[in-house]
Amino acid sequence: MESENNIEERRAYEIIAEAGCEGPPLDFGPILERYGIDLMLRAFNYVSGVMIKDPVYTLLVVKENDPEPRRRFTIAHELGHFFLEHEGRRFAEPSNDNPPQERAANRFAAALLMPEDWLRAAWEDFRDNPDHRPEIVAEKFGVSAEALKVRLKELGITNAPGKTAVHPP
Ligand SMILES: [Zn+2]
Repeated sequence: MESENNIEERRAYEIIAEAGCEGPPLDFGPILERYGIDLMLRAFNYVSGVMIKDPVYTLLVVKENDPEPRRRFTIAHELGHFFLEHEGRRFAEPSNDNPPQERAANRFAAALLMPEDWLRAAWEDFRDNPDHRPEIVAEKFGVSAEALKVRLKELGITNAPGKTAVHPP
């Protein structure tokens, strides 16, 4: 499957395995602790998150007034910049400075929050509830239903009519 050849996907699974994360929902705690990343909430107006990266200390500040699934995605996205070793000391979201880098961080975030094996198992668990399946599974993973649907299509778990939008060339 295409996703297995994806460097962001592989990196996300390595991090989960190294930190011994449990889920769903993914527990960020072991990752933050292992890599010395401090997490703070702040009532931002214009940004959803900021990461300040230093060789000895990294601070991640996330918008307090965002809904939880959004905050979780922001944390995972910033961790993408961190673990994919993107160039720079400060990352603020949303950003258009380097679109390929932002897309890579988003792919990492989706894989971190919704690892393929966890998602396939959970999707199977709720097969008897087709009407509310996306909402139930999204809730279980702590992600938005929209993010979940994109991920399901990307992994080929559901049909992908808009496939070209999910995997830009
Ligand atoms: Zn970013």
